[in-house]
Amino acid sequence: MDARSLMSRADKSRNTAAVDVSKRPASVPAMAPDSLQKLRAAVRDVPDFPKAGIIFKDITPILASGALFRASIDAFLEQCRGKAIDKIVGIDARGFLFGSAVAYELGIGFVPLRKKGRLPYKTESAKYSLEYGEAEMELHIDAIVAGEKIVLIDDLLATGGTSASAATLIRKVGGILLEAQFLIELEFLHGREKLAPTPVVSFLKY
Ligand code: AMP
Repeated sequence: MDARSLMSRADKSRNTAAVDVSKRPASVPAMAPDSLQKLRAAVRDVPDFPKAGIIFKDITPILASGALFRASIDAFLEQCRGKAIDKIVGIDARGFLFGSAVAYELGIGFVPLRKKGRLPYKTESAKYSLEYGEAEMELHIDAIVAGEKIVLIDDLLATGGTSASAATLIRKVGGILLEAQFLIELEFLHGREKLAPTPVVSFLKY
């Protein structure tokens, strides 16, 4: 078989691919009304983790259930419906679990925002304060093209320090941050104020 016929075969298979990579599914079914209640019931409170006084919101029971994991992703997808989004940025590490599934379903790119020292290529970085000391997040310099519309996803919004530094980094590389989305928000910590004026959406509020 000559190169031309090989080429035309490759083109043909591209054209008849089963997956429509150009789709921007606004076709997400509306969530069942009791889904959020079921998700809330599955979040496990772990007192004094990782240190005394913190009640850790453990989302692993959601991940471990096919129905609940799907329901959590559907909540994000419903919130993305109708928006022209170019990329999802997910925060290290639980933001990867939710953000990558959302990006996959939307057929758009996923960008990991990682703790310092984990990304192999050139990075932009932003420092932020934790309860004790400082931390730093990094983003590959070429992960976002200037002007791309971004939705930021993480499992939980607490004080907002992490996601505010994520927002800074997204803007530093030229991204337009449309919205920040969280499965869980600890409202008493007022984290959304740190993200202003970025719109903030969360599904389970405590
Ligand atoms: P913050 O920067 O204070 O908004 O913290 C948000 C980040 O820390 C998220 O990536 C969360 O996964 C994690 N986090 C903070 N507090 C908790 C908590 N109580 N339970 C679970 N994860 C938490």
